[in-house]
Amino acid sequence: MKNPPINEIVAPEKCTGCGLCRNLCPENAIRMEIDGEGFLSPRIDAERCVGCRLCLARCPQRRAPKLERSPKPEAYACWNADNARRAASSSGGMFTVYALQILARGGTVFGAGYDERLDVRHAAARSPEELEPLLCSKYVQADVGPVYREVKETLAADRPVLFVGTPCQVAGLYAFLNGDPPKLYTCDFLCHGVPSPLFYRKWLDHLEKAFKASVQSVNMRSKECRRNIMGVKLCLSSDPDRRIDFAWYDKKMEFLGRAFLKNYSLRKRCYTCPYVRLPRLGDVTLADFWKLGDLGPYNPEKKNGISLNLINSEKGKRLLEWSVAEARFIRRELSEAVAGNSSLRGNTKEPRLRDAFVRDTVSCDYETVVRKYHAELFGTRLARLKIKMKKLARPLVNLLRRR
Ligand SMILES: Cc1cc2nc3c(=O)[nH]c(=O)nc-3n(C[C@H](O)[C@H](O)[C@H](O)COP(=O)(O)OP(=O)(O)OC[C@H]3O[C@@H](n4cnc5c(N)ncnc54)[C@H](O)[C@@H]3O)c2cc1C
Repeated sequence: MKNPPINEIVAPEKCTGCGLCRNLCPENAIRMEIDGEGFLSPRIDAERCVGCRLCLARCPQRRAPKLERSPKPEAYACWNADNARRAASSSGGMFTVYALQILARGGTVFGAGYDERLDVRHAAARSPEELEPLLCSKYVQADVGPVYREVKETLAADRPVLFVGTPCQVAGLYAFLNGDPPKLYTCDFLCHGVPSPLFYRKWLDHLEKAFKASVQSVNMRSKECRRNIMGVKLCLSSDPDRRIDFAWYDKKMEFLGRAFLKNYSLRKRCYTCPYVRLPRLGDVTLADFWKLGDLGPYNPEKKNGISLNLINSEKGKRLLEWSVAEARFIRRELSEAVAGNSSLRGNTKEPRLRDAFVRDTVSCDYETVVRKYHAELFGTRLARLKIKMKKLARPLVNLLRRR
């Protein structure tokens, strides 16, 4: 007798949309679709589902993959020794360092890139040129598509793989493979949560309206923005040679980044994500070393981007050993990394208005959401003026204190 079809793999507020179930289903009965909050979630086709329950057994939100990972990983401040590659990355450019090592060994690198519609999805790179679209942080949930299956095929052909993704995607991959194959290398990153693809799309539409041209390319974490290391860079159809850039705190343009930094637009599960703490699942954890030097001497390299990398496993150590000639590694105390990065200390706090905000990003147009939450996210005029005055007065206060 046929088993009844599965209704739900995990409660919606616990699903991360990692795509394990979609990749695993032997009947291809699961599709990832935009849900009521604008995020990718599994939709089960009851006609196709044979009730095998494989998705229930392996879902990493129901049972975490068991791997050998250090609860006290080695922490390094590090950066790519190639200045051009470092400048083209979000942080210290360490992703490229490890990726080139895998490519040099005949392997394939899987990471999140922009497709031709500028949607963010995982893709494969088999040459240094193909790495380029994967560089830099995209502050939106990436669609992994069928990539876990492609990873398995590559490993079956005895070729090494580097997979980079959010901690929940790395968990999804290990759950799919049901183990830790010797030629698989993974990097997760410190992730305080992901905004929805629907809100990201509305932001792009808004920019196209504002500039009266279509956006040809976008970089959500460009170092070329003159005013700030956290900047957005656009290329428009109206003038492909002209680059438009603006800072993440630009009150007119950058509401997507602001809502992300203030944690309003994140997926519900991100506030209770089980994969934020140590031990981490990735062989290496990539991050920004925001507070490097705040507890010791200032490092002038900081302005060019310094990464924090945690080496969580033996394979992580191997990646580091392969890379010593291509990058600068400085051993730091783990406590310094934890003190300087709230994402390592626990879950992101859910703002009181998060549910209302996310609902509005689905039902309202972008401009209405901006109007409604502008004061909440950027502060009132008076609050902004106070911050400005404090900043202006700081050198004078410091001078008086020193006397
Ligand atoms: C949503 C998000 C939240 C983050 N939150 C934090 C944080 O709280 N604290 C912190 O220190 N660092 C955070 N980071 C990581 C940080 O921004 C850098 O990506 C990281 O330090 C790697 O920098 P890099 O210079 O070594 O590599 P880069 O060249 O910048 O490469 C980034 C790598 O990440 C992958 N990637 C980018 N965007 C996505 C995505 N949306 N989904 C899956 N994979 C992606 C790319 O494929 C690439 O492999 C976050 C990144 C993202 C995407």
